Amino acid sequence: MQFIDEILIKIESGHGGPGSVSFRREAMEPRGGPDGGDGGKGGNIIFRPTSHKNTLVDYRSFATYKAEDGQPGAAANCSGRNGNDLILEVPLGTVVRKRDGDMIVDLSDESEVTILTGGRGGKGNHFFRTSRNQAPEHAQPGEDEQSLEIVLELKLIADVGIIGFPNAGKSTLISRISAARPKIADYPFTTLTPNLGVVKWKEEKSFVVADIPGLIRGAHEGVGLGIQFLKHIERTRILIHLIEVSGFSGHPPEQDFADLNYELEKYDEGHDQEDYLPLSKRPQLVVFNKIDTISPIDLDLKVRAFKNKTGIQPFQISGVTGRNIPELLEEMAKFVFAEQNAETIREREMENNEL
Ligand code: GDP
Ligand code: MG
Repeated sequence: MQFIDEILIKIESGHGGPGSVSFRREAMEPRGGPDGGDGGKGGNIIFRPTSHKNTLVDYRSFATYKAEDGQPGAAANCSGRNGNDLILEVPLGTVVRKRDGDMIVDLSDESEVTILTGGRGGKGNHFFRTSRNQAPEHAQPGEDEQSLEIVLELKLIADVGIIGFPNAGKSTLISRISAARPKIADYPFTTLTPNLGVVKWKEEKSFVVADIPGLIRGAHEGVGLGIQFLKHIERTRILIHLIEVSGFSGHPPEQDFADLNYELEKYDEGHDQEDYLPLSKRPQLVVFNKIDTISPIDLDLKVRAFKNKTGIQPFQISGVTGRNIPELLEEMAKFVFAEQNAETIREREMENNEL
């Protein structure tokens, strides 16, 4: 399944600095020779693909990203300083398109690409002196900047899958923790689509969370929409198993937990390819949701009963009040980034072995 993170931004290189019109001032010489310096060059717009990012969450839609203008030239043949380039870091695999869809560049390896060049600086009047005109009164303006509306596009894979029966609070949780909402590409289903969010984690990092709607008891027997949706979490690193404790479901949490896991096992039975990682064997973080709806005593009873039955101490949150959500995010991040680190290490080892 393809999730797409997409963002429209405007980029603008730096304007060239204007050349200067100036005449030397010296004692005894009311009007010295022309000494206006050249303007500096405007900065470029450069894209730097990096494996340290995996979403576009740091970019703001419709924002303009502008490189610095060149500085004007000055007297005494001083050239203006060149404007600084603007370097935009994007995840490896980001595709840059024009607004109308034409591809500009596919940033699939770690080399920088200059997309817009800054304007050249204008020549100062010193440059224009000739034998016939020793005192030119004009200088060149700097060259114009270039600007472009572009779409950054990145295919995403969900790192975290949120599973749970309807009403467990999956959508609420995602909307609470995510900072951006990527699109779902080519989605074949009409009635239910997964919710999806990019979670911004600390300064630099982010990960992608997706929920799986439509999972209900008996789904594996074709009840409701069946278990076709599960194929979208095949590549997640960790599952958040959300169980609501308000009593709405009509079953004790350990029952909901067991029933949903049973649906996962049934799904696995239909998938016995060699490289298939069974969903029922993925690491799960078990989370009680809606703890705001019951008293602490009732909650404690439910937690104990659950632990007796399953041996698992569940996380306890409220997607509505936000209770314990920072702690849950911390735990998710631990899994996601531990896995990512392990993967990077494995990839490096493989590369080394190939050398
Ligand atoms: P989903 O079907 O798993 O996506 O569940 P939703 O996120 O749509 O939530 C189902 C209902 O439960 C909605 O009315 C939510 O407002 C409510 N809900 C979700 N989380 C909480 C919670 O932590 N506390 C309370 N009181 N209600 C919640
Ligand atoms: Mg939902």
